[in-house]
Amino acid sequence: MGGLFTLLIYAGLFYLFMRFGCGAHMTHGHHHGHEKPKDKEIFIDPVCGKQVADDEGYGELVDKKLFRFCSKTCLEKFDENKAELSKKPNTLLVNEGQQHEA
Ligand SMILES: [Zn+2]
Repeated sequence: MGGLFTLLIYAGLFYLFMRFGCGAHMTHGHHHGHEKPKDKEIFIDPVCGKQVADDEGYGELVDKKLFRFCSKTCLEKFDENKAELSKKPNTLLVNEGQQHEA
């Protein structure tokens, strides 16, 4: 029995294994083990209520609480009425698990 023939059998088995074995799971649905944490905190603009990403818009720290604003206009409005608007929540908790219920 030649070494090449053995190698071909292994290659064939490996192919079948990837196609119908463990490899197939990657394309058919998700396992629960790989899920990210369900709750994710995102910043919301307290003036207009828009979601603001960490790397966009403007930020201002009030009483150790970071507020983020979608635009300079919102930041200015916030400054005009800071006492009132700083009571609003600066972040929103989104449950990513809700998006794919069975
Ligand atoms: Zn805004």
